[in-house]
Amino acid sequence: MLLRHGLNHNIPPHRINYRANIYALKELNVDKILAINSVGSLKEDIKPGTFFIPKDFIEFTKKREFTYYNGEDGKVVHIDVSEPYCPELINIIKDILNRKNYEYNEGVYVCTEGPRFETKSEIKFYRTLGDVVGMTGYPEVVLAKELGLCYASLCTVSNYSTGISKNKLTVEEVFEVINNVKNGIMNIVEDFVNCKLPKNCNCSQSLEGNIIK
Ligand SMILES: [Zn+2]
Repeated sequence: MLLRHGLNHNIPPHRINYRANIYALKELNVDKILAINSVGSLKEDIKPGTFFIPKDFIEFTKKREFTYYNGEDGKVVHIDVSEPYCPELINIIKDILNRKNYEYNEGVYVCTEGPRFETKSEIKFYRTLGDVVGMTGYPEVVLAKELGLCYASLCTVSNYSTGISKNKLTVEEVFEVINNVKNGIMNIVEDFVNCKLPKNCNCSQSLEGNIIK
């Protein structure tokens, strides 16, 4: 397990060394990554306390190191992200969620730079593009793709984004959401680690045909 915000949760989303994290996992011979991300809901029917699985993303980050290929070694790479998340890992996560009767949705993850939250106008715009908004899902997903690793994300929906729901959560409800989700995540990760991971996806061949020398 790698805590992207640090052991003491003191690294903000825009300062996380995403490249070092994903590369370190590769160096440790990890070939399948399950990322856990917390998100805000952009849609009324994606409720706090439920889970969300990104199938695609849109990003509005600004200052992140987002590639391993900056041309230094003479390689120019345009990685294909028509399927950013590993379909096999997604199926495994969905199986686990279904077996455990956890409510979840799938859709588009919007990644912002943070660390501030979004304005009402930004949320209005983002909800026309995606389903949830978060700050940590990108560029991890692309860096994993560049290294040929399987990567999928399991998001916990912690709140409605600004202006999405008129029903404000009470403090008790917020704590209930956090506790339920915490227990759920541990259950899901345990099952994920113990399950047999198939190897029929094409993630490890992600670079084929994408390098222009
Ligand atoms: Zn894969």
